[in-house]
Amino acid sequence: PKAPYDDSNIFAKILRGEIPCRKVYEDEFALAFHDINPQAPVHVLVIPKGRWVSWDDFSARAEDDEIAGFVRAVGAVARAEGLVEPGYRMLANVGQHGHQEVPHLHVHLFGGRQFYAMVS
Ligand code: 5GP
Repeated sequence: PKAPYDDSNIFAKILRGEIPCRKVYEDEFALAFHDINPQAPVHVLVIPKGRWVSWDDFSARAEDDEIAGFVRAVGAVARAEGLVEPGYRMLANVGQHGHQEVPHLHVHLFGGRQFYAMVS
């Protein structure tokens, strides 16, 4: 069965324009905005416009054009933010063990500093 999607999640409200965000990018498939609690000099979240709970849900069930559009948007945001040189980190938390807090798929882009080996 399709994972239940909760339309009251905070990113759904951002997509509907019900709460503000610091937008950095938007196209047909994706919206990107600054994380409210940045963990790096650049910390941007990229979310698909579709009602997808997580990477698992999205990768299993989204249409190919949505997947391609979203993946290309993540790359476009990283380039637009000037992250490609000298590099950046991207991350998607999935579910309970992944410590996913917001149940709408989001990819974190972190940049502007050196990162080290993955920790906790
Ligand atoms: P998760 O743990 O689900 O991967 O990450 C959720 C992220 O969303 C966190 O980094 C948190 O700071 C961010 N976040 C939570 N609420 C808001 C909000 O209302 N606005 C923005 N811009 N970011 C949020």
